[in-house]
Amino acid sequence: MSDHYDLIVIGGGSGGMATARRAASYGKRVALIERGRLGGTCVNVGCVPKKVMWHAAAYAEASAHAHNYGFTHPSAEHDWARLVANRRTYIERLNGIYDRNLDKDDVELVVGEASFAGEREVTVGDRRLTGEHVLIATGGKASWPEIPGAALGTDSDGFFEWESRPDSVAIVGSGYIACELACMLNGLGTRVSLLLRKEHVLKGFDAMLGDTLIERMREAGIDVQMNRQSVALHEQEGGHIAVEFEDGDTVKGFDRLIWAIGRVPNTDTLALEQIGLELAGDGTVPVDEWQDTALPGVHALGDVTGGPELTPVAIAAGRRLSDRLFGGMPERKLDYSNIPTVVFTHPPIGTVGLSEADARAQFGDDSVKIYTSHYVALYHGVLDDKTPSDMKLVCVGDEEKVVGAHVIGDGADEMTQGFAVAVKMGATKKDFDDTVAIHPTSAEEFVTMT
Ligand code: FAD
Ligand code: NDP
Repeated sequence: MSDHYDLIVIGGGSGGMATARRAASYGKRVALIERGRLGGTCVNVGCVPKKVMWHAAAYAEASAHAHNYGFTHPSAEHDWARLVANRRTYIERLNGIYDRNLDKDDVELVVGEASFAGEREVTVGDRRLTGEHVLIATGGKASWPEIPGAALGTDSDGFFEWESRPDSVAIVGSGYIACELACMLNGLGTRVSLLLRKEHVLKGFDAMLGDTLIERMREAGIDVQMNRQSVALHEQEGGHIAVEFEDGDTVKGFDRLIWAIGRVPNTDTLALEQIGLELAGDGTVPVDEWQDTALPGVHALGDVTGGPELTPVAIAAGRRLSDRLFGGMPERKLDYSNIPTVVFTHPPIGTVGLSEADARAQFGDDSVKIYTSHYVALYHGVLDDKTPSDMKLVCVGDEEKVVGAHVIGDGADEMTQGFAVAVKMGATKKDFDDTVAIHPTSAEEFVTMT
């Protein structure tokens, strides 16, 4: 059989799998090249194992509340090794499903590392494949600081390898991963220090979300330290880690340290110089709104192209690309506006659309109207723990179009998807008000704000 394909996909993660399968559904001949485990970051070292751990921490939190609901709970010992084993079994099952799906859809899986030999010519080991189209969907990896002793720490991939739960952990970073891991490890009983180089978390989100999260983390016992720019790690006796900061201060005694300071695209093994494809300043592969690179027939999507680095974004971009190239839908492309997202912290955060600050910058103060709600969810009614939740609607213009909806609190993870539909459709505050509430829920706060 010849090695010429309609589409060659490099990377079997969220974006690559989705693009390949959609192209094959149009009867196209597709090869997908993957050097690691099918499913990529999300399935193996991202969303999926993370969510399992999030549930474990949520379970620990609920157990602590159980006595208020009349349960007499013996103090439950947590078996980390069993949790990790169950998580791994689940993921192996998903890897198998992904493998079978490729088979079922007639996508040829090529195992190995791909690099370009020509514009639409790719080598994997001693195989040479040519394609009408080539897709770069190689994702990214954790970025590490270039400071002395950095290797004493680990990253989120390393976290998923842990066979036991450390007593104390330092987490450096302020984004999704730092906040999620801090809350989850704290929930499972580890002493956590979150080391922020500035004074905020979740840069770019509505400020209410990050500010409230810091409060909640501190109340839950997380040691949130600000203005901590780390400049070196040192190994102490007993294998502990000490972190030295820019101001000369040092904090000692961590069992482990996690770098969670952003991610960099996977392009180093692709030999892009062979095809003259230039990278952007931040190392991402530049694409236009159609996921096309500067070279005809060479496309890219997902994390390798930069943000938003989210699984559903990579999947949606990939399916639309295949619809356009092979499905007779020449105008099909992803609209990158109003992408909803959840940060799986404790409590979780849901957000879609513009932050208050961005709306004010874009539309002017006079056009922006803000509605907020600060409430205690009914679940907490009988608890000693009366942790409140917070919501915000950002509205613009006389018609009060809702351009941003933000929530931190119980249920935020599940309620945001539906409100994202409303925001995407251009709903106004009146549309929200005209929607009858579902009672008693937390989500009803979104349609009852005055
Ligand atoms: P990836 O899924 O990373 O896939 C790229 C694939 O390409 C990999 O399998 C890699 O092995 C392969 N590859 C790379 N180079 C080559 C090569 N030269 N040859 C062959 N194969 C190659 N997103 C969410 O939406 N929700 C979440 O809850 C969430 N949680 C996350 C938690 C963590 C800890 C992390 C790290 C990420 C999380 N994400 C989450 C982000 C999400 O995982 C990514 O946005 C998504 O996986 C990107 O998909 P992708 O297809 O671009 O890349
Ligand atoms: P993020 O980009 O979310 O956050 C990293 C932050 O770390 C930066 O914004 C910066 O914030 C801070 N930082 C950068 N360099 C340093 C440094 N040297 N020292 C201390 N802090 C530093 O990256 P993550 O690694 O958390 O996650 C990568 C991406 O993966 C996310 O953006 C998200 O798209 C995706 N993801 C999604 C999840 C979800 O959907 N729930 C979960 C996990 C990941 P500042 O400038 O404010 O200091």
